[in-house]
Amino acid sequence: MAEHNISNEQHYFPISSVAEILYCPRNFYYRVVEGAEDSNHHLLEGKLQEERRDERQRLVREGYRQDRSIHVSSEKLNLYGIVDIVEQGKEIYPVEYKKGFRKESLNDDVQVCAQAMALEEKLGQDINRGYIYYAGSKARREVIFDEDLRLMVENAVGLARNIALSGEIPPPLADNRCEGCALVNRCLPFEVKGIKENKAKAVRPQPGINLGRVLYVDEQGASLYKKGERVLVTKDQIKFKDIPLCNLDQVVLVGNVNLSSQLIKLFLGRGTEVHFISTKGKYYGCLQAALSKNSVLRIAQHRAYQKQEERLLYASEFVRGKLSNMRTNLLRYNRSLNNHSIDEAVSRIKNIIKRLEKAKDLNELMGLEGAGSRDYFSVFGLLIKDRVPFDFNKRSRRPPEDPANALLSFSYSLLLKDVITAVQVVGFDPFIGFLHRSDFGRPALALDIIEEFRPVVADSVVLTALNKGVIAEGDFEYRMGGCFLSETGRKKMYRLYEERRKEMITHPVFGYRISYLRTIELQARFLAKVLTKEIDGYKPFLVR
Ligand code: SF4
Repeated sequence: MAEHNISNEQHYFPISSVAEILYCPRNFYYRVVEGAEDSNHHLLEGKLQEERRDERQRLVREGYRQDRSIHVSSEKLNLYGIVDIVEQGKEIYPVEYKKGFRKESLNDDVQVCAQAMALEEKLGQDINRGYIYYAGSKARREVIFDEDLRLMVENAVGLARNIALSGEIPPPLADNRCEGCALVNRCLPFEVKGIKENKAKAVRPQPGINLGRVLYVDEQGASLYKKGERVLVTKDQIKFKDIPLCNLDQVVLVGNVNLSSQLIKLFLGRGTEVHFISTKGKYYGCLQAALSKNSVLRIAQHRAYQKQEERLLYASEFVRGKLSNMRTNLLRYNRSLNNHSIDEAVSRIKNIIKRLEKAKDLNELMGLEGAGSRDYFSVFGLLIKDRVPFDFNKRSRRPPEDPANALLSFSYSLLLKDVITAVQVVGFDPFIGFLHRSDFGRPALALDIIEEFRPVVADSVVLTALNKGVIAEGDFEYRMGGCFLSETGRKKMYRLYEERRKEMITHPVFGYRISYLRTIELQARFLAKVLTKEIDGYKPFLVR
């Protein structure tokens, strides 16, 4: 059971969420306990229709009056909400708007009945009927508020209170009702059911996610402005990029690039991520709208961080993910190279992985992680083809000393922005990690989760850049004792990195096709479900 902050004192619930309980109690938990605001096209369309309706607040004809968007609350039921329309002629009644076609729906009936019960309290008079208007059919359906329906409202409120006070997440439906649910990517109904029943392979494919478009701006001194529904990138009054705002999911600003205050507000409002990276590849941070409302998760994360044993458990899994995927990388390349030194490194890493579960503390674990990484990088240079004009002898950072190290550092920064995004989308505190220390300003949790993805995403991009001859000697510049990518080199890396993060793979546990990008988010979501005690034991993403 997750700890949460809904106490036994009087707590008001939204009428719409309570009505949803009849459809799916888990939906109520996400909306009310975790504060989920996930939307999909059905919800957005409904909201647009609502806005259009609200433009005309009141309609008065002889003997008849319509008031729109009336706020109501009930002290008896502890409910609050908005009634779409209150009509008053010979009698008074609520009308609830739905965007689809006319249908019988018990939760719609419960919703309009709850509105009527709140209105009765407000007006001090009985309301015997109400209507649901279906915009798709342009027709109303009458709902009679009899004793049975009123009892259903009370029962739904009781169930809502139990879920909110217990903090226990109801099990997923994992059936046809999940199709079209705005919460499916957060809820992962089929995956959770599969894990709980120990038959993960049987889950249905994930719905496709919109990978969106990433705008990288690396022209030093450039400025970004909004013009209508487009983003313009200009420099010295010359426009060199003009991009529609729709489908723009992420903006990456590298070095000295200006962003207009109008765009800052717009990106914050739309949830478009904006990341800032230095030309040397250092990740500075991102523009972030208000903190996630998921306090349940943050409480669980902080609690786990305080418990050394639990912290060590998660930290150990991050290291296992990293070293296992490093080993798999070496094994894959060595299929054609057949190199004895690589074989030896593979077996040393395997032995280190076996010792992870016996590590008594974080220091010992970090020591094993360091030893495994050294073994990996001791042979990493052998994975680079002979004809490539760059050698790799050892990993060097801050600053990277040679082109291969410059590529690795830059690739890790690009990956870090995506892991930070995933961590924030899920609702974690990015600064509280389990393996990495939470030093000031260090996104420790993102640095934990990134470990299992470094070899398979970032290192792979670097090896592609080198072995396919994409990167040439002219793509680097040497300054301040280090080697860094030049502007042309960075642009080549953006393209390669984009290709890699969108690459579809077969998920090793669930067996469906999924992009690396979505896999990062899935891992963050599974960690959240483990921390809030919905499923047991975090398992790293292991490639085969
Ligand atoms: S995806 Fe399914 S189980 Fe999850 S909240 Fe939606 S309807 Fe409920």
